[in-house]
Amino acid sequence: MKRVRVRYAPSPTGHLHIGNARTALFNYLFAKHYDGDFVLRIEDTDIERNVEGGEESQLYYMHWLGIDPDESPQHPGAYGPYRQMERLDIYKKHTDWLIEHGFAYKCYCTSQELDEDYQKQVDAGHASTRYNRKCLHLSKKQREENDQQQLPYTVRIRVPENETYAFEDMIRGEVSFDSKDIGDWVLVKANGIPTYNYAVVIDDYLMAITHVFRGEEHLSNTPKQLMLYRMFGWEEPKFAHMTLIVNEQRKKLSKRDNSIMQYMSQYKELGYLPQAMFNFMALLGWSPESEQEIFSHDELIRVFDEKRLSKSPSMFDKQKLTWVNNRYIKELPLSEVVALCKPFLEKDFDISERSDDWIEKLISLFHDQLSYGHQITELARLFFDAPAQLEDDAKEALAWETTPLIAKSFIEHLPLDWSVENLKLTMDAVKNETKIKGKPLFMGLRAALTGQCHGPDLMSTVYLLGKEEVRRRLENI
Ligand code: GLU
Repeated sequence: MKRVRVRYAPSPTGHLHIGNARTALFNYLFAKHYDGDFVLRIEDTDIERNVEGGEESQLYYMHWLGIDPDESPQHPGAYGPYRQMERLDIYKKHTDWLIEHGFAYKCYCTSQELDEDYQKQVDAGHASTRYNRKCLHLSKKQREENDQQQLPYTVRIRVPENETYAFEDMIRGEVSFDSKDIGDWVLVKANGIPTYNYAVVIDDYLMAITHVFRGEEHLSNTPKQLMLYRMFGWEEPKFAHMTLIVNEQRKKLSKRDNSIMQYMSQYKELGYLPQAMFNFMALLGWSPESEQEIFSHDELIRVFDEKRLSKSPSMFDKQKLTWVNNRYIKELPLSEVVALCKPFLEKDFDISERSDDWIEKLISLFHDQLSYGHQITELARLFFDAPAQLEDDAKEALAWETTPLIAKSFIEHLPLDWSVENLKLTMDAVKNETKIKGKPLFMGLRAALTGQCHGPDLMSTVYLLGKEEVRRRLENI
């Protein structure tokens, strides 16, 4: 079998999006599973859409996720250059060959002419419009004249008549398209830069790509690419078009959908763990044979099986996202959770006076609950700000006639020596003095201190609030 080589080929138009990250991930898993090569190629031919730093950003977030390419512009292998804009001379050679062999021709039509013709076809009720082939029929002399006048031109492919382009998609099975549905499309734009469908074929072939995993939005591009493979007499790679990612309403994820965070940068910023995101994304459109859902990086490489890529859209399940991330944080040693969370506390609150021990104890209170680092600021807010608005059940608990009695007694028995052990003794003393116990005691005290009826361990909460703050909050009610 040929050495497996796959590629992830982003346009450097922005940060790494969840859909692209998943494409990169499945290519990577497939390559690594078969001990093959994972290539990063930058498709930067749409020069107006490229953004400054787009390429670095892609690489940065891929690296963050643990998806490092074997070959890339930064680490070229034997198949470079790895940026399309550095390959223009390669495309040019192939374009000349195509023109020479009658597979492609220069088109001198202006955009105004093309627009007018398009409008004519629309007015005539044509369902699908296409180029009218005016320039295919130019005489040799006319062409020479045009070139002499240096008229700008595009290069169009001459789409073969009565051809069928069928291929065996690794996910969808047999897919087929007719050439009659495709007009003579542009290979090279007037600025000399190739279009995506053209450059991708030259590159995939010259880079010895064996398998192409990409989003299903590229399915309809595949016949255009196949016709080029046939013209050049090249063997095409195997294609796998992955299904869409949809939201919980089963709608295709749109970049404007704010209900789902879609960029890896956002996850990183909020303190999600890259290894958890790697795991979560692997389950977006792929499933293992077993029920297991938590897999390490290497395990995923081992169990990845392209035959188990899903044929139906994969739902972005936010609950699963939370669950998977929580599972990973739970497994981390406390010191790492502290390192993850502390910067978020520092940013949102003044912790300059707090000891490391206090911060560690605070974070450990929520360790099992966390799904991402920034969540700590929400969970731990009660330690920094007195409760601003009360939940309904807390309002109720505060209205109990027993609650002020508990507060008063608790203040009177505050231990001199501040420790969880001594606070338990304080609770005993309050219980003895007020004869209040059970839910009214515990919930009353918690509501008075935190404005909530539920939360982390009560005695640890009291301890971490500190004596002065406890006194202040209890006196307040
Ligand atoms: N540059 C294309 C994209 O970002 C690559 C498509 C392909 O994998 O062929 O969608």
